[in-house]
Amino acid sequence: LTERLQNAISKLRKKGKITESDVKEVMREIRLALLEADVNFKVVKDFVKTVRTRAVGSEVLESLTPAQQIVSIVNEELIKVMGDEATPLNKSPKIPTIIMMVGLQGAGKTTTAGKLALKLKNEENARPLMIAADVYRPAAVDQLKVVGESIDVPVFEMGTDVDPVEIVRRGLALGREKKNDYIIIDTAGRLQIDEKLMDELKNIKELAQPNEILLTIDAMTGQNAVEVAQGFNDQLDVTGVVLTKLDGDTRGGAALSVRTVTGKPIKFIGEGEKSTDLDVFYPDRMASRILGMGDMLTLIEKAQRDFDQQKAEEMAEKMRANTFDFNDFIDQLEQVQKMGPLEDIMKMIPGMANNPALKNVNVDSKDIERTKAVVYSMTPAERENPDLLNPSRRRRIAAGSGRPIQEVNRMIKQFKQMQDMMQKMSKGNFAGMEGLLGN
Ligand code: GDP
Ligand code: MG
Repeated sequence: LTERLQNAISKLRKKGKITESDVKEVMREIRLALLEADVNFKVVKDFVKTVRTRAVGSEVLESLTPAQQIVSIVNEELIKVMGDEATPLNKSPKIPTIIMMVGLQGAGKTTTAGKLALKLKNEENARPLMIAADVYRPAAVDQLKVVGESIDVPVFEMGTDVDPVEIVRRGLALGREKKNDYIIIDTAGRLQIDEKLMDELKNIKELAQPNEILLTIDAMTGQNAVEVAQGFNDQLDVTGVVLTKLDGDTRGGAALSVRTVTGKPIKFIGEGEKSTDLDVFYPDRMASRILGMGDMLTLIEKAQRDFDQQKAEEMAEKMRANTFDFNDFIDQLEQVQKMGPLEDIMKMIPGMANNPALKNVNVDSKDIERTKAVVYSMTPAERENPDLLNPSRRRRIAAGSGRPIQEVNRMIKQFKQMQDMMQKMSKGNFAGMEGLLGN
């Protein structure tokens, strides 16, 4: 991937106006980064089109290279599409503000209801009430009660034998009587959108007239999130979205997809199971998270700064022609040394940051020096034609470089793996990247 990116970038050296082909090459990498971030493919397509239109013909700022300029346009567009600024909760001019949680089963409605109640309590000294209107699983009512107890927020419930609309009616009456400033309604979900559920939710909406209908979406569902969001929004005209399970590795692409298809603001993100793990959604942070998949911009900058792109082009040519030999191997190692620690570079490649293959990688510059010593002990003919390296030649090389024969053998084996890998890579197959790293 670095190779391809470098090729893309090497063509972008000249300043002036950004051309169609400049954009095309970089956009291919951007598109991959977006798809890796789990943005829906249709959304990616439209997004890339918008950026392309804006980028082509735009002046390259003095301080930027064309590649940087394009990445910065992408960043701006991402922020714009996701709503520019954080969107606050809708509030009723007079209490209570009524919030209705909706979403598929397991999306995080109950958890988020509790998190939100706690947030309001902590930040506004609010006195929320929660209503348990999921009557399909006995455990659902208990779950909300446990959540309520843990954050010291009252829960109104009537068990599971009462019509949820009736529960909401009674709950609202109680909240009004007790002057609760927020009433959060926890509703049922299904594994898929179905008509019966939608009817029930519509009835609750009709009765409660909520100020906020928060669609809770599991960010880990990636590509699927789009259909779910569309389905709920078409039926209920939601007012905002909560993206849950954005902790850990989840890439955040769902934010872009959901916002694009529904046009509704994402208001909060859930980043863990604890009741304090709820944050306001900031479009700029999410843009960096999506784009920062492996930190695209840094990678581009680093590549531009350090990589001799003439060499890169020759190398790519050799890969295609399958004439990669030990001389190229040395060149390659020197390029890598110039760029800094290999682990750092690998981590910047989208999708590689958490790749388990990287766990075992540690290429230090001493290894590279030793490898170079071995190659320098080869004759020019051997360097160009590794197949000449029979056992007696290997022994001579070991003696000449002062390295053990096992090390020479291992190095030659690694070289062959690398040669093999490069051929696969030049055909667009990246599986088995570890081989390249000599592990
Ligand atoms: P509901 O069916 O929509 O009410 O979903 P729940 O609130 O019961 O949540 C389903 C599961 O997802 C539970 O195990 C929660 O602990 C978990 N969960 C909810 N939100 C988050 C989150 O932001 N991060 C993580 N890691 N887990 C979450
Ligand atoms: Mg629930």
